[in-house]
Amino acid sequence: MPLAPLTTFRIGGPAALLYRARSADELVEAVTVARTLGVRHHLLGSGANILVDDAGFPGLVIRSEVGGIEWLDEGLVRAGAGVQTFPDLIVESIRRGRGGLHHYVGIPSTVGGALWQNLHFLSPDRSRTCFIEEVLESAEILTEEGERRRVGVDYFEFGYDDSILHHRDDVVLTADFRLEAVPEEELRAVVRENLRWRDDRHPDLWLYPSAGSIFKKIEGIGAGRLIDECGLKGHVRGGAGIFHRHANIVVNLGGASSADVRALIDLARETVLRETGHELETEIGFVGGPEDRSARSPIS
Ligand SMILES: Cc1cc2nc3c(=O)[nH]c(=O)nc-3n(C[C@H](O)[C@H](O)[C@H](O)COP(=O)(O)OP(=O)(O)OC[C@H]3O[C@@H](n4cnc5c(N)ncnc54)[C@H](O)[C@@H]3O)c2cc1C
Repeated sequence: MPLAPLTTFRIGGPAALLYRARSADELVEAVTVARTLGVRHHLLGSGANILVDDAGFPGLVIRSEVGGIEWLDEGLVRAGAGVQTFPDLIVESIRRGRGGLHHYVGIPSTVGGALWQNLHFLSPDRSRTCFIEEVLESAEILTEEGERRRVGVDYFEFGYDDSILHHRDDVVLTADFRLEAVPEEELRAVVRENLRWRDDRHPDLWLYPSAGSIFKKIEGIGAGRLIDECGLKGHVRGGAGIFHRHANIVVNLGGASSADVRALIDLARETVLRETGHELETEIGFVGGPEDRSARSPIS
């Protein structure tokens, strides 16, 4: 089974094994079995922040499809780790007149991926960045040590594009979000404005598949601006190109390989270092290939 259709980049070869975990119990079981047998595995959400190698992944890919949206009280919603934040969870919360998640409209992510990333976007007046940690109340996780337990927001040690999930092999099973009452019209106005903002700056995912920003933010400067200043907007390698409106995004122009994307990443890194002295660090994760950090030995 090729992994390309399971990613927003639409790039990547097959996994040796693919398992779709449709409940928290199935996700716990799959991860536990892989850990016990020492099988190299990768936990996949909606594949919006990864580049899968052309040769695929020589191990077990566990796709988190844990569903379920349950309102525990008026403002507290529990969602499975595999629920799509947009449209599913956000549309449902807006319909109930609850705000806090609506800032992240238009961003492809599962709930688990959103906690991994500490999903973020600009506030409606654009004066600050909103983070999903602000509405997270608790989550049920399977710890690296194999314990299934509920943890509070502090456990995640959230930062910009960062959480404990980058540093520990914990798995999110479900998450509870505390959402405030906001008039539905107000929510819809923010949603419209944010979608318009994205539309003006970001590639349309259906026409130009991508993984969002390739490089981490450089405080006060912006990775995209540095790449742009080096004249790299619009550069093409094979089927991949640096997006003409946003230089921190590489798009699949049709038939791109992971090698094409890596070539552009290397070009941007080397050029920016040479011309500005700044070191670009990738934000996206690599699945398969030399930079893959997935745990455990390969399936033999
Ligand atoms: C067009 C586009 C625009 C974007 N815009 C933004 C933006 O404005 N703001 C922003 O913050 N991000 C943005 N992103 C990045 C992306 O949406 C986020 O990183 C998203 O949270 C990734 O979620 P995912 O489910 O796709 O995770 P994946 O890409 O599948 O996985 C990412 C990581 O999360 C881990 N993971 C997944 N599920 C779990 C789980 N249940 N438990 C533990 N770890 C898990 C994976 O193992 C992997 O390491 C954008 C991406 C795209 C393609």
